[in-house]
Amino acid sequence: MNNKLNASERKHLARVKSLPCSVCNAPPPSSAHHINQGQQYTAVALCYDCHQGSFMGWHGQKRAWAIRKMDELDALNVTIQRLLTDGMPLEENNLPF
Ligand SMILES: [Zn+2]
Ligand SMILES: [Zn+2]
Repeated sequence: MNNKLNASERKHLARVKSLPCSVCNAPPPSSAHHINQGQQYTAVALCYDCHQGSFMGWHGQKRAWAIRKMDELDALNVTIQRLLTDGMPLEENNLPF
C-alpha cells in the first residue's frame, strides 16, 4: 500500500470506499482495489468477497467476476459512474438530460 497519498488522493479513495461493490452491489463500506499499484484514480470499489475472496474474488478464482462476465475495466466503469453521480444506484440515474 502506498502510504504517500496526498490529500486529494485520500479524499478520492474515501469516496470510492463509500460506494457499493462495483461487481455485486453489496452495500458500503467497500475496499479499494488498485488496478495499477500506486494509481489511486483507477481504484475500484469492491466488497470483501469480490475483492479478496478466495473463491469469488479478483485475487482468488474470480468466480463473482466470471458469473457477471466482468473484468477490472467493467468494474472501474461502474465505480466512476457512481462517483460522478454521487453514488446513486444506477437504476435511479435515468434522468432526462
Ligand atoms: Zn461484491
Ligand atoms: Zn485488489
